Amino acid sequence: MKTTTDLERRRSTLALSSEDFRRLGHRLVDDIAHLLAQIPSGPVTRGLSPGEAKTLVATDTPLPEQGSDPEQLLQRALTLLGPNSLYNGHPKFWGYITSSPAPLGMLGDFLASALNPNVGGFVLSPVATEMEVQTVRWIAELINYPVECGGLLVSGGNMANFVCFLAARADKAGYDVRAHGTRGAVERGLTVYASRETHTWIQKAADLFGLGTDSIRFIGTDTEQRVKIDDLAAALKKDKADGYVPMLVSGSAGTVSTGVTDDLPAIAELCREYGAWFHVDGAYGGFAAVADNIDPNLRELSHADSVAIDPHKWLYAPLEAGCSLVRHREKLRAAFSYHPPYYHLGEEAVNFFELGMQNSRGFRALKVWLQLQHIGRAGYKQLIEDDIRLARVMYDQIAAYPELEALTQYLSITTFRFVPADLRAKTGEAATETYLSALNKELLARLEKSGEAFVSNAVLGDRFVLRACIVNFNTTLADVQALPEIVARIGRTVDAGMRTSYRLA
Ligand SMILES: *Cc1c(COP(=O)(O)O)cnc(C)c1O
Repeated sequence: MKTTTDLERRRSTLALSSEDFRRLGHRLVDDIAHLLAQIPSGPVTRGLSPGEAKTLVATDTPLPEQGSDPEQLLQRALTLLGPNSLYNGHPKFWGYITSSPAPLGMLGDFLASALNPNVGGFVLSPVATEMEVQTVRWIAELINYPVECGGLLVSGGNMANFVCFLAARADKAGYDVRAHGTRGAVERGLTVYASRETHTWIQKAADLFGLGTDSIRFIGTDTEQRVKIDDLAAALKKDKADGYVPMLVSGSAGTVSTGVTDDLPAIAELCREYGAWFHVDGAYGGFAAVADNIDPNLRELSHADSVAIDPHKWLYAPLEAGCSLVRHREKLRAAFSYHPPYYHLGEEAVNFFELGMQNSRGFRALKVWLQLQHIGRAGYKQLIEDDIRLARVMYDQIAAYPELEALTQYLSITTFRFVPADLRAKTGEAATETYLSALNKELLARLEKSGEAFVSNAVLGDRFVLRACIVNFNTTLADVQALPEIVARIGRTVDAGMRTSYRLA
């Protein structure tokens, strides 16, 4: 029969011979090593516009009908990405909260995809499952969270917070929300509490998981952007009196904008009083619990009902790696599982699909597992403490620079702005403030485009300010010391061009 003959002759077009695989792989590793070595001496980014990126990629080219040579394809990918990327591993990259990637983690992702274990179910990934269990345990240990907790790796901080939110919802709804749906959550008035500085994950969570964003009580912050505990207490008290059910309070272990840590012990106390779930968003700052040079309030995360934490931030894992930790592991199961615990060969086996949102799951844990052992607790303590020390040096350097105004410094985030010498005495006046925000906005755009250094921005009150976040093991003292002059130089040019169009008293 003809079809049988065809299939007998089948040669898989996707397979590579062992020899080709080796050749391509070795060349790729060589090229990557070369690229990584070049990054520090070049710009942080070439600052391509959307149009330039589109032209470069030739985005509208139709899908090829036939295949191409794999070596050439890899070369093309390298030619596109190599010189044109934004390098978050560059020593002067301090934007958002994206870390430099650990080289061992890169290799870990390669190995993970080579074996391709499906870490959704134990049967499909017995050893990988156990390695993820161990990774979660070590993450807990690193931040002094109970090691018997439940937890899993997810794609990032948003997902990590979502998983914790769902565990809280199942536990605190007061009825079977998983069976009966979320109408009851609205009828019963389930409410959640967080400061105005909280990352937008909380809006997404309230929206996606049926409480609605109206259920969020955004609590104001003090002059240091910490949640006002008195206001939080008053909101809880009023809601309780009005018949609402406080479900969860989220405290920040390092806010995304300035890095400040909320008064977590006071939040813990209020949660106990009102029976609410005490959640800590430690996506950025959670790992700083290992450091000595931090606000001691941060250590209170060890008493939280759940913690969201991002290995792809302060463990420097390549994207993606977030992690949810839930104090009582059975509460994590209770939020996601439809089965009684699973036994394999007479022993209880972990099936991660029953502890989170994904079914099939990749082996994200491997890179983290490798990195944690590569430098150990002591290594991470040193790197994180050094990032924080460098951020403080940055603050001091900026404070000492006549045309720069240093604003805040928490964990490894420093905020500041450019203030022309003659406007120094007029800060606070409405017209000057409007101008300074516009000036710093334009300065930031120019700085990003220049590739000399990369920072992002924060909004403090109504002031648009610059924000540098050091989650970067490649940054040295010299990099930090270079920043004030770069910013001031660009600032002067921008000011010279903009000033005439503003009327300043
Ligand atoms: C980064 C961050 C998030 C979101 O994490 P992703 O990994 O970007 O999804 C949430 N909260 C805080 C405090 C963060 O710093």
